[in-house]
Amino acid sequence: MLDLTESEPSADENDRASSITERLLADAEAKVRALAQQDEVHEDFDGKHCVDCSAAIPEIRRRPVAEGGHGKVRCCDCQTVIETRKKFFAV
Ligand SMILES: [Zn+2]
Repeated sequence: MLDLTESEPSADENDRASSITERLLADAEAKVRALAQQDEVHEDFDGKHCVDCSAAIPEIRRRPVAEGGHGKVRCCDCQTVIETRKKFFAV
């Protein structure tokens, strides 16, 4: 006899699918976090000033991540502009 329920995903399969999705999401999140914690590099960065507007960057912000800083090469303003642009234009 043909079992018509065969084509429907069982509750187990649904559970498995959602846990795979959760794991993929967690992976992606971890990658984004790891990326965000890397020091930024820029050929024009002199170690003290924003590469875009030359404003002085606070010490904690430009200090390398490994030394407890944020490893940024831009001031807050320019960073915000770039992140907003990324959000809207995905570049
Ligand atoms: Zn700036």
